[in-house]
Amino acid sequence: MTSPSNKLYINGNWIPAADTFPIIDPATGDIVGDAADADADLALQAVEAAHAAFPAWSKTTAPRRSKLLYRWYELIMEHRDEIATLLTCEMGKPFPEAKGEVSFAANFVLWYAEEAKRIYGDTVPSNEPNKRITVLRQPVGVVAAITPWNFPAAMVTRKVAPALAAGCTVILKPAEQTPLTAIRLVELAAEAGFPPGVINLVTTSSPAEVGTVLTTDPRVRKVTFTGSTEVGKLLYRQAADTIKRISLELGGHAPFIVFEDADLDLAVQGVIASKYRNAGQTCICTNRVYVHESIAETFADKLGEAVSLLRVGHGMKEGVHIGPLIDEQALAKVERHVQDALQKGATLLTGGSREGDRGYFFQATVLNNATEEMQIATEETFGPVAPLFTFQTEDEVLARANNTPYGLAAYFFTRDIGRVTRMQEGLDYGIIGANDPAPSAAIQAPFGGFKESGLAREGGKYGLDAFLETKYISLAF
Ligand code: NAD
Repeated sequence: MTSPSNKLYINGNWIPAADTFPIIDPATGDIVGDAADADADLALQAVEAAHAAFPAWSKTTAPRRSKLLYRWYELIMEHRDEIATLLTCEMGKPFPEAKGEVSFAANFVLWYAEEAKRIYGDTVPSNEPNKRITVLRQPVGVVAAITPWNFPAAMVTRKVAPALAAGCTVILKPAEQTPLTAIRLVELAAEAGFPPGVINLVTTSSPAEVGTVLTTDPRVRKVTFTGSTEVGKLLYRQAADTIKRISLELGGHAPFIVFEDADLDLAVQGVIASKYRNAGQTCICTNRVYVHESIAETFADKLGEAVSLLRVGHGMKEGVHIGPLIDEQALAKVERHVQDALQKGATLLTGGSREGDRGYFFQATVLNNATEEMQIATEETFGPVAPLFTFQTEDEVLARANNTPYGLAAYFFTRDIGRVTRMQEGLDYGIIGANDPAPSAAIQAPFGGFKESGLAREGGKYGLDAFLETKYISLAF
């Protein structure tokens, strides 16, 4: 593994902080690197740099911004395997998944390199012959981007690339568990040639201290956050005093509904793809599997058997499907959810325990006979555990699927076109997988949630809106 820089990137310079903090491989508990530990003063320096760089960057032509983004994309792809190795070592996901994530991350940069050239305004017909109405789309200003550990590369580029494309300057604060991937991405952005102050990187083990600066300083005009609903609500409140624009990509509790007419083998593979990818640590991963009572037994047998074949292990080992959870706290939560379900009457089809004596591994688990009283039915588990519930009617399962404060992703499998239409319209979720367990792979599609799963959308042409203000000009002559 290449040695990452344990410095902050502010105003085009790599600068040290007084302290550093260690980064842990969750598969072994070993230290794999360290990162600079920024405090509020260093966060303020980053805000200052981004603010000073904004006037020139916002006036930089779109083709020039596009070219720099395109060069960044090329550099990420040239270093894909190296970044993926870093990612697996600090976060744990299997190396092939990490490579997939780096390509996915790079593709956001490519998309926004292209989209930068298509930020159009409008001319609107006026009511009077001697007036003209023009609508401009202008960059919102300095952006603070706060990202989670579960996708250490993709969450960075899904925010930073559209912000830069729009003409905004950025302060990036990655998760304290996974700053190494972010540092490498920023090193490559620097190599691509973005001017000083356009991208700034602040790593820290004190997110509340740095986060307070980023959400309250009036020079920051936009906060874009991906993470837990709890922290998202806090940042929303903190950003209120200065009426910052805010995008929130928060937690989820996805239902996965298998109707009696579904292709059961496809549905089994669907649950595996949706639930066990990233060891169940994705915001859109299945949390509740609802199976029609007439096929429940067959489905449970098939799923239990398929899941028992999934191999848990170090992400750099070949043939591993499931890496470790991120830390001891995450492991304890998954264990708690499983114990609670078993005490309340669930039965174990496969898995159910920690694995190994090093690292934070949990077996791929399927729980049968789950009920609404169990913690797993309402709380985000963030681990490789699929609870199976049964249902009788379409109306009933729709109501149960929607009965949650979350509204990020929902899945259903059926071959009835009428039912497809009713379900896709009736589910209160921002992302629907209709016979598709992997809707999030499309960078061109809008990603985001209803209700307490968030605000605004990322990805595709929709992802630019969050970084643009609309200005109306009335010209009289
Ligand atoms: P988290 O909320 O603990 O942390 C996310 C980020 O917020 C990190 O960078 C962290 O350092 C920072 N943070 C924490 N406290 C802060 C504070 N007081 N001020 C400023 N920043 C602060 O979430 P996590 O555990 O890293 O990520 C898992 C959560 O993220 C899950 O709930 C998951 O569903 C959600 N998630 C959502 C999406 C989405 O697009 N909707 C994508 C990935 C993850």
